[in-house]
Amino acid sequence: MANMVYNFSAGPAMLPVEVMQQAQAEFRNFNDLSVSVMELSHRSSDFIAVAAAAEQDLRDLMQIPDNYKVLFLQGGGRGQFAAVAMNLLGKNAKADYIVTGQWSKSAVEEAEKLGTVRVLDGFGEVENGLRPLASSWDLDPTAAYVHYCPNETVDGIEYHFVPKTGSVPLVADMSSTILSRPIDVTQFGLIYAGAQKNIGPSGLAVVIVREDLLDQAFAHTPVIMDYAAMAKADSMVNTPPTYAWYLAGLVFKWLKRQGGLTAMGERNKAKADLLYNYVDASNFYGNNVHPDARSWMNIPFQLKDESLNSAFLKEAEAAGLVALQGHRLVGGMRASVYNAMPIEGVQALVDFMDKFAKQNA
Ligand SMILES: *Cc1c(COP(=O)(O)O)cnc(C)c1O
Repeated sequence: MANMVYNFSAGPAMLPVEVMQQAQAEFRNFNDLSVSVMELSHRSSDFIAVAAAAEQDLRDLMQIPDNYKVLFLQGGGRGQFAAVAMNLLGKNAKADYIVTGQWSKSAVEEAEKLGTVRVLDGFGEVENGLRPLASSWDLDPTAAYVHYCPNETVDGIEYHFVPKTGSVPLVADMSSTILSRPIDVTQFGLIYAGAQKNIGPSGLAVVIVREDLLDQAFAHTPVIMDYAAMAKADSMVNTPPTYAWYLAGLVFKWLKRQGGLTAMGERNKAKADLLYNYVDASNFYGNNVHPDARSWMNIPFQLKDESLNSAFLKEAEAAGLVALQGHRLVGGMRASVYNAMPIEGVQALVDFMDKFAKQNA
């Protein structure tokens, strides 16, 4: 048995322990077939049942209406930066991109290769070094879509409301916030997510797209990125990432057993409050994101005395609290507390931080 640790990795992130145990138990003998899921044909009835159940469970969890397609694609989150543009830019080939951090910036860079991108500042006025979020923009009513990233994984910045874009479809990169609470899917034209934060293994991407947005892809779109072609083939134009799809399905079933997204939302809020409240009350640690824009999933914090960073990380690891180093672009610490992180893990982190602060005050 591996030692039990709490893994705060931003991604690939920890998966629910129960899911990993189930995968292990049926690793070499799925459905009493004496083979692994990953050794099954994607055209076999056993795998098709796995794939269909995963889609249905995701539809149930997110209450996805029938006029949306659910796709299981390859190429992770970043693959969708290009796929969204190729599929949705359409004839005018222009879109508005709200930028709030590293990932929305990267999405712009990819879309700019394919069309005209207007960058909208996602931050309102910056007050006191904090970063509140803008809630309205001068949108182009003829843009093909508005793209934003509701949760900036690197920066720990999150929209707690859905931007209003009128009749222009809203596209959301939900890689690090999907399934963390209930959302109203009908407010979006398209939602996508790389799997390795809240869904399953990396490489897989889930796309939820309104049907009326299909069929406008650029003619040169590769077929494995073509939403309409993929929808028609149940995401199996080619061999899909079958094992990742299976694991995602186990995660969806686990989420249902937890009480679904309402229950997850309550737990995630409690986890985030626990850590932010501790940081805010402390003179030893800080977080400079505006309280209205703080992520529930990725919580950056800084030691006021940065010379203690490496000691903090070393002692945290020895205490079984791993992967707390902040993103290389931001520095400091970051605790990613996706669905699979139990509140006990956050409590253990707060207890450790408190002990470390007292010892080094
Ligand atoms: C992780 C992440 C991505 C990139 O995912 P890859 O699978 O590495 O391409 C994109 N957007 C957001 C918000 C992410 O957190």
